[in-house]
Amino acid sequence: MTDRHLNRPVVGYRAFTVRRGGRLFSQYSDVEWPSFPGVTFRAKCELERYAGMMDLSSRLAPVGEHARFKLELQGIEEHDAPHVRCGCGIHALYDVGSVSDATVPWEEGEAVFGLVTGWGEVIPHPDGFRCSHARIHALAGASTEARAAALNCEVPLVGRRSELVDLAPRFGRPMPTHLVPEEASVRRIEHLVGGIV
Ligand SMILES: [Zn+2]
Repeated sequence: MTDRHLNRPVVGYRAFTVRRGGRLFSQYSDVEWPSFPGVTFRAKCELERYAGMMDLSSRLAPVGEHARFKLELQGIEEHDAPHVRCGCGIHALYDVGSVSDATVPWEEGEAVFGLVTGWGEVIPHPDGFRCSHARIHALAGASTEARAAALNCEVPLVGRRSELVDLAPRFGRPMPTHLVPEEASVRRIEHLVGGIV
């Protein structure tokens, strides 16, 4: 359990890798998001999966970095996602403009942007959040694959990612400001000051 349980959905943005037939995958973990209408996704920690990969990756990663990664994982038992000391959970960002469209270079497919909501156990970060439950509400893209994904999921498809922001209020609210960690608050104040000047 986290200290933040939200019953009302909060909106966020993320990218997926879309492949043949409009199938959606997480960009980095290769987890498939079933492309059916009205699916609610529930996060599951795959710490063991990544722990298993560490030995493999240790041949590629610098020694110091690998040592630090192992240290971070010490003492974390099997748990429900998301967990404050782990990286698990369904990830989304507050600002659609900060979502990267980079696809995993060793996988086929291209990026499509998505409007999602998250709720349940939620861990807010300065730029986004991790949550236990999520749903896809709209996609943005111009490719054949993006059209297929939107058809499969029965969600609206818009041409530009900025148009997702217009749709967001239909499905959820922004993350309440008081829940966002201090670091983001500091940046927002700097933005405001800059704007006034
Ligand atoms: Zn975890």
